[in-house]
Parts: sequence; C-alpha cells; structure tokens
Amino acid sequence: MDTFKPLNLQKDTNNNQDIQNIEKVKCLIIGSGPAGYTAAIYASRANLKPVLYTGLQMGGQLTTTTEVDNYPGYPDGITGPKMMEDFKNQAERFGADIRFGIATSVDFSSRKHRVTFDDNKILEADAVIIATGATAKYLGLESEAKYAGMGVSACATCDGFFYKGKDVAVVGGGDTAAEEATYLAGLCRKVYLIVRRDVLRASKVMQDKVLNTANIEILWEHQTVDLYGENGVEGATLIRKKATVEEEIVKIKIDGFFLAIGHNPNSEVFQQYLHTDKVGYIKTVPGTTKTNIAGVFAAGDVQDPNYRQAVTAAGSGCMAAIDAERYLSELK
Ligand code: FAD
Ligand code: NAP
Repeated sequence: MDTFKPLNLQKDTNNNQDIQNIEKVKCLIIGSGPAGYTAAIYASRANLKPVLYTGLQMGGQLTTTTEVDNYPGYPDGITGPKMMEDFKNQAERFGADIRFGIATSVDFSSRKHRVTFDDNKILEADAVIIATGATAKYLGLESEAKYAGMGVSACATCDGFFYKGKDVAVVGGGDTAAEEATYLAGLCRKVYLIVRRDVLRASKVMQDKVLNTANIEILWEHQTVDLYGENGVEGATLIRKKATVEEEIVKIKIDGFFLAIGHNPNSEVFQQYLHTDKVGYIKTVPGTTKTNIAGVFAAGDVQDPNYRQAVTAAGSGCMAAIDAERYLSELK
C-alpha cells in the first residue's frame, strides 16, 4: 500500500504574491464538465458557496459532440452543448459562482490550498475539487478535424449506436482499442482494427476476444494517412508496411472511424502534489474522491481510466462535493 504516502512537498512561488490578490473561499471547483457542474450543484445546496472555474472549454468534452443518447433523464436524447447548458443553469440556480479562467499552478503544501489562475488571481480554498477531465489523443490528421462529429469519434460507447449495421474502423492496439472493436462488432457489420505494428499491446484475454470475433478484421502494420467522403466519412486511406519494400496504399470503405490510441488526463498542473498513475490519472482512495492531500478531491475523467462517461463523471462530482462537505465540517 504505497499509494497514499505523503509527498515531499515544495513551496510554490505563489507564496510571494501580494496578499491583496488572494481571495479566500470555502470550496473551489476546477472544471465545467459533468463532474464539475454536478459538484457545484451539490456544494451550493450544502451551502459551501462554491466558486467554479470553467477552463478553456466551458461545458467540457460534451460540447464537442452532437447527440447524447445515453444520459438518463433525456428520453429523446439531447445535444451535448444543450445538456451542459442545463447543468450550468442548475448549478447557478443554487448560487454557484461560475467564472471563466484556467488554473495555471497550485500550492497544496498547507491546509489552505492555493490555486493561481491565468489572470494571476489566486484563490485560497479550504477544499478543492479537481474536475479537469481527460483529452482523447488523435492522430493529428487534417481530415480528423474535418470529419469531427461526421464519422470521426473517440468514444465507441458514446457513438457506436449511430453505426448499427455499418462498417467502421478502430485505430489502436491496446486494451481500449480491443474493447471498442469488440463492442462495435456487436453493433456493426464489419470492424477493421488498424494496428501500426505486427502485435497487439492489449492483454492476452482482450487479444483473444478480438481474434475470436468473426466480424473483426485486423489490419496489421497499417497506418492511417487520410479520411475521405462527401458529407461525412466514406473511407480511409492507409499505408501498409510503411518504409519497407512491401509498402503499399490500401483503401477501406467505412462509415465510422474510431480513435482508441489513449487519453491524456488533464492533471499536469497538479502533478507536483498529487499521486497519479503512470498515464497521469489522479489516484483517489478507492470508493471516494479523496486524493493524497487532505481537502483536495478529484472527480470525473481526470481520475477515471476505466469508464469516462458523462454519467459516471457526474456521479463522482456528486461524491466529491459530499466528501468536501464532510471534510469541511470536520475542520470546524
Ligand atoms: P470534461 O467534460 O472533460 O470537462 C473538463 C473541464 O475541465 C472542462 O470544462 C475544461 O475546460 C476544464 N479544465 C481543464 N483543464 C483546466 C484547467 N487547467 N483549469 C480550469 N479548468 C480546466 N459520454 C457519455 O456518457 N455519452 C456520450 O454520448 C458521450 N459522447 C462523447 C463524445 C465526444 C466527442 C467526447 C470527446 C466524449 C464523449 N463522452 C460521452 C465522454 C464524456 O464527454 C466525458 O466522460 C465527460 O465529459 C467527462 O466529464 P468531466 O467533467 O470529467 O470532464
Ligand atoms: P495504450 O495501452 O497506451 O495503447 C495505445 C495503443 O494505441 C497502442 O497499441 C499504440 O501502439 C497505439 N497508438 C498510439 N499512438 C498511435 C498512433 N499515432 N498511431 C497508431 N497507433 C497508435 O492505451 P489504452 O489502450 O487506452 O489503454 C490505457 C490503459 O488502460 C492501459 O493500461 C490499459 O491496459 C488500460 N485499459 C484496460 C482495459 C481493461 O482491462 N478492460 C480497457 C481499456 C484500457 P503501440 O502498441 O505500437 O505503441
């Protein structure tokens, strides 16, 4: 059990800042996705007077998608941006103070946790809830951006349903790619798994699943160079065995192109103080949102390598507010 040993904390340069520039709050929430807004709803109702900083992407990842069909309570579905506006309005209804700003550094070396924002303002909070999400990795092709929401997705659980009976491709060779390919194989006619090497990185059990699913075809040693289509993805151009004598161009006809090459949790700002796994996901005490620093909590995708769904993010945002409320009541 080495997970929650205290770190060797170093003082942040913020300590020298003019005391006038420091605003004291009970509860600070960083991030405005489902986790952050849900934490704000619960924290406001618990009279913690939360201040929430939205970050650059107000509303979080769901503002980049069209239909959200799997969030309970919306029987006819809802667009991501509208859903996040509803979350925000609900948080504001209970008095959450929502501000635009990006956390640029933190000092968690004392009980009064200090967070500096991009306008140089410093907030000193008794409790901090980190809900900064995670960002899916993309290949960096121009066509990925062109077809975003029109055939390109980084979430099979979210968007797979729209490709029922169609042909799709998944890029990646890890557990996520294997899992997403298997999931999509249950919905789609055919799934190409585009793997850049001649082996899968995925665990043996996941590899077996992929290899034993009849409608998954693995394209070994293939790299995607372009996507094409009139009003959405209709196909992908790949290179097989790049930079060898056997190099050849391969075209596949697909309606959907799923990225599964990993995520980057947005935890860099906190890593000096908080324990993370090797990818950067913030570690929490199992069954809670507590981090290794008392009074600092983490919710949503930034601490979740497994589920990364709106409803699980919202659920852990609720947990974080309740954990923060209990922590603050014990401080009194
Ligand atoms: P996010 O939504 O990622 O929000 C993170 C927030 O943190 C943002 O507001 C950002 O501005 C802020 N932030 C980051 N860094 C800082 C900083 N330094 N300072 C201040 N703020 C910061 N899930 C579903 O359940 N159903 C779906 O249909 C679905 N569709 C999806 C479609 C797409 C295209 C994508 C990308 C994801 C989809 N997901 C879906 C997954 C879902 O969006 C995430 O699981 C969920 O948004 C995670 O919520 P979160 O609050 O943890 O973080
Ligand atoms: P990962 O293990 O880092 O695998 C990423 C995969 O994407 C690798 O196969 C990598 O290829 C490939 N890749 C990366 N960049 C690429 C590029 N530019 N072009 C083409 N391919 C590229 O990530 P992950 O699969 O998301 O898994 C993350 C962690 O979560 C892992 O620890 C995993 O075990 C875990 N996880 C577990 C489960 C489960 O147990 N059910 C499910 C999902 C995830 P290379 O192999 O060539 O590097």
